[in-house]
Amino acid sequence: MAAPSHNSWVERDAAVVWHGFTQMSCYAENQPIVVERADGRYLIDVEGRRYLDGISSLWVVTLGHRVPELDAALIEQLGRVAHSTLLGNGNRMTIELSEALALRVPVDSPHFLYASDGAAAVEQALKIAFQYWTNQGVTGRTRYLALGHAYHGDTIGSISVGDSGFGTDIFDPLRFPVIRAPGYNNPDWAKAAITLIDRHKDGLAAMVLEPLVQGAAGMLVAEPRAVHKVVTAAKEAGILVICDEVATGFGRTGTLFASEQCDLRPDLMVIGKGITGGYLPLAATVASQPVYDAFLGPDLSEKTFYHGHSYSGNALACAVARRHLDLLDDWNVLANVREQAERLGKRLAETVEPLTAVREIRRAGLMTGVELAPPRDGLRWGRKVCAAAVRRGVLLRPLGDVVVLMPPLTITTQEVNLLVDTLADAINEACVD
Ligand SMILES: *Cc1c(COP(=O)(O)O)cnc(C)c1O
Repeated sequence: MAAPSHNSWVERDAAVVWHGFTQMSCYAENQPIVVERADGRYLIDVEGRRYLDGISSLWVVTLGHRVPELDAALIEQLGRVAHSTLLGNGNRMTIELSEALALRVPVDSPHFLYASDGAAAVEQALKIAFQYWTNQGVTGRTRYLALGHAYHGDTIGSISVGDSGFGTDIFDPLRFPVIRAPGYNNPDWAKAAITLIDRHKDGLAAMVLEPLVQGAAGMLVAEPRAVHKVVTAAKEAGILVICDEVATGFGRTGTLFASEQCDLRPDLMVIGKGITGGYLPLAATVASQPVYDAFLGPDLSEKTFYHGHSYSGNALACAVARRHLDLLDDWNVLANVREQAERLGKRLAETVEPLTAVREIRRAGLMTGVELAPPRDGLRWGRKVCAAAVRRGVLLRPLGDVVVLMPPLTITTQEVNLLVDTLADAINEACVD
């Protein structure tokens, strides 16, 4: 019997798998790849074709796929225990990871509440910020300040602090209302945010923001000093600050956390995506000591945080995350991010920016958005450029008409060149009126 062809895999896929953020009626037409295995920074499909993973498997992969050291950490932990509950009990590996992270996160005396997805960890942060005030007998601090174009995940709470757009407008009736400042594409966003902080300060539980880069918004990049000023204003007004570093964390912008570049120490920080190097679902809400302390009280009292997920602090995920944190140092990964990010920026400026089909290129570290300039709506240029790149062996996925480049942090010079040259060819092929 012949090996099943790519097409039959796509058909089998579409028959039973419902893909997120994907219109299934035209799933097959948008050049999906069906991955079977991987080799370093390359994905290999069911037909044996290789693709440079230009989006780090949706922003989660850091060192590459099948890292022998991470594989070994996972296998070693399998020999002990895969999972045990964190509700009222502990796990050695979760403790070891938390101790290691505590030395690295820009949060004062941090405490880690684990979840499996970024959205769930955002949800935890929002609920913690709310209860922080009620636990201290403060009433009326029940609202959140969030930014335009913000994306914080897809649960009801996280889409509420997230802005509309991304096709989620139909859920508007389910969203709870928030105070909305402009996003990073508005040059006056910081001034407007500070005005809103001042106006609403007594009613705000927390402000939530993605420091430095609004990723899903299409890589909108802020001035680090502006972010610092807004966060300082929020802190001075007594409002808790939640930094969502799900996308920016673990080296993507050239520092371990983007908060470092903005000189921030948030009260609550949300981490996810790159925490396990792209291996396993793990996220965490990081609370500073004062936030944590507000939840201490008698057993079974109302001060307890009544929230928890079944797979919180999963030992397999924590074992990989623990080893991953060491590898970031041992391999000097952040230095590579800074070096290759600069090369990427330079090569894009030479090769892609001059193309008439390109409106703007935005970048912080290796987080890059190439905004196309279609002459009218409905041309689906973002989609077509990425499909053309996939045909050339580079996996890309757009955000509307912004082509996202988010390569693994270990990317080489040769691969940066491949990424840029492929993108230029794909634009030239696909961006025809
Ligand atoms: C991806 C993302 C999330 C959601 O994380 P999931 O693991 O996909 O739920 C939240 N915030 C930001 C900034 C993100 O980029």
